[in-house]
Amino acid sequence: MEAQLTVGSEHLLKWMDYANDPIFIFGLTEDGLPENYVGVNTAAAQLLGYTRDEFSALKPTDITPRHRLGHLKRVMQRILTDGQVTFEGGYITGEGQEIPFEFNARFIEIGGRGAVLSIARNISERKRAEEELRESEARYRVLVELLPDMVAVVHDGVIEFVNHAGRELTGASDVAQLIGQPLDRFVLSGYQESETPPLRQRTQTGDALSPNEYTLVRFDGSRIDVEVQSTVVMYGGRPAKLIIIRDMTERRRVQHVIHHMAYYDYLTELPNRRLFHERLEHAVVTAHSSKGKLAVLFLDLDRFKILNDALGHDLGDLLLKDVAQRLQACVATKALAARLGGDEFTVLIPDVANREEATDCARRIVAEISSRPFVIDGYELFVTTSVGVSFFAQDCLTVADLLRYADTAMYRAKSQGGNGFQCYHDTMQIEDAPLSHIYMEQELHKALDAGELHLVYQPKVNTRTGRIAGVEALLRWTHSAMGDIPPSNFIPLAEQTGLIRPIGQYVIRQVCAQLRHWEEIGRAPLPISINLSVRQFQDSDLVDTVAGIIQEAGIDPRWFEIEITETLLMENTEVAMASLQALHDMGMHISIDDFGTGFSSFSYLNQFPIDTLKIDQSFVANLKGGRRAKSILIAMLRLGQSLGMKVIAEGVETAEQVAFLRRHGCGELQGYYFHRPLRVEELETVLDRMNEMA
Ligand code: C2E
Ligand code: MG
Ligand code: MG
Repeated sequence: MEAQLTVGSEHLLKWMDYANDPIFIFGLTEDGLPENYVGVNTAAAQLLGYTRDEFSALKPTDITPRHRLGHLKRVMQRILTDGQVTFEGGYITGEGQEIPFEFNARFIEIGGRGAVLSIARNISERKRAEEELRESEARYRVLVELLPDMVAVVHDGVIEFVNHAGRELTGASDVAQLIGQPLDRFVLSGYQESETPPLRQRTQTGDALSPNEYTLVRFDGSRIDVEVQSTVVMYGGRPAKLIIIRDMTERRRVQHVIHHMAYYDYLTELPNRRLFHERLEHAVVTAHSSKGKLAVLFLDLDRFKILNDALGHDLGDLLLKDVAQRLQACVATKALAARLGGDEFTVLIPDVANREEATDCARRIVAEISSRPFVIDGYELFVTTSVGVSFFAQDCLTVADLLRYADTAMYRAKSQGGNGFQCYHDTMQIEDAPLSHIYMEQELHKALDAGELHLVYQPKVNTRTGRIAGVEALLRWTHSAMGDIPPSNFIPLAEQTGLIRPIGQYVIRQVCAQLRHWEEIGRAPLPISINLSVRQFQDSDLVDTVAGIIQEAGIDPRWFEIEITETLLMENTEVAMASLQALHDMGMHISIDDFGTGFSSFSYLNQFPIDTLKIDQSFVANLKGGRRAKSILIAMLRLGQSLGMKVIAEGVETAEQVAFLRRHGCGELQGYYFHRPLRVEELETVLDRMNEMA
């Protein structure tokens, strides 16, 4: 058999050596089992590390790894039945390493005997590459599954792969429910490969796409905003689209919140100053180009500071919220109501047809605010507002001017008693602007010399006896052209300019002269209180000046009462405290005016020489507000009583207030219910009548 083979194989072996791939020939037994190699080429010998002689002593089963023997057996059978088989196998080299081969084996006959000729291709490289691919694919798969975004591979518009995030986003019961589904069943706005040219163009180059926003329809029919990115990948050996879909709900929510915080007022939810300015700017530009009109309303609540101080800021905030609601209800849909801050609100009316449209709105707002009380935490608060109106292009052309002029008009409305509106007009420029500064200062200077200042006296009534227990001197300025100017308008200016010094001296001189006069005509003297502002206490010679004037007039300081505000005690400067003490030591009474409106703690009351608490009129006015207002007032009365101080209530206007204050032991009352501030002659008449009745 050997000889037969050798003879016939001579030629064959030579031919085999031309091949680069290893070639093996082994014989078969009668039963078709593999026998020794009868021929191998040089490539085979070199690759496996056996000589040809060594090969002739080996059978395929000798160099096949154990784990492949079973497979080899099955392959042998198929060779016998089919004549030819391609299969993957492996051989062990002389050095003990396994080399994987792809064999192409066929049955041949050599010298009448069966044999197998097997051409092998070394597939080590391919195996390694496959292994690497498997590993990296596994890595990618883990990554893709970990991604919070939906990742899908889409081929011909149909989903071939999707991760778990995709299942969650779409609300599918499992991933399998999505496989085989067309993507555009979920992603709306006609997302289709053919319909979105930019997507197709870009993906041909394999670039990542810029994010596009779509709507995703979930299995339950609900819709969410998504961002879709797409790129081309190789999948299963052919190009497919890799789609990444991101849920935008949270980002949208955050964007919305940020926008809201930047443009809306946290308290009232109305647009804030910034949004108002932007809209106003836009409206001005539009009105400019279209020759249109617009109006700006500026409103400010009357006496809000006092309310806010009295109520506490939490309740003050609640009030502002309710005011905002009423304001919103008054403005047309095209108009924009905003809160600038504090108790200042604005309204922009674009495309305003005529002045009436704006003034109607202002009138509505004023009426609506005062129409019925605001009920805040059980209080019934009566609130009024003042509104100023300015017009584009009638009054002015810029955003800043529109606001400024509306503001000026609002102040005019306030100075006329509040609870009303005013449209801006040019004369306000001349009348109001200089009013606050140089013009007013000059006028106030002149007022002193020209005798335009005088005092009125408002009686204080003893609650028990009903008799006048004293009077408060209140300053009046009657300007030759402007008429009566209330002290709240000129006292602050006098303080700023230092004019408060001569004015304060004037008040004391007047009071002394009055007391002197009464004494001379044989009238019983009456305690008179004067108001001294914080600024007046900053003068180190206040006490000397006061003492000098009083001595000169020969008046007993005990007829004097000094009304100061809590602010003075809160500032607690050494000079002020020493002055206060000195005035008290002289025999003057000290009274805390507007008590309850400061932010001070009650602890200071013990530390200063205070004789009287004068409860601010806002607390008295609030009495109609209900239970809580009453208990606050009662607490203040008790506080004064427990500290051994006289308590007096100011701003008493109704019989109910009188009854309540009397019942709770308030010592003295002052207010329009009894007497308005009176001119001297009026006061004397009142005093005479009182004495006659006694
Ligand atoms: P004040 O000392 O708290 O004076 C009480 C104010 O309430 C006065 O206003 C008075 O006319 C007003 N009033 C009195 N009874 C009632 C009432 O029943 N209802 C209402 N709604 N109001 C009432 P006026 O005279 O306008 O004075 C305002 C403030 O100007 C005073 O508040 C005081 O702080 C200050 N002031 C007045 N005269 C002088 C002064 O000679 N020197 C200084 N430094 N300040 C003064
Ligand atoms: Mg006073
Ligand atoms: Mg007061």
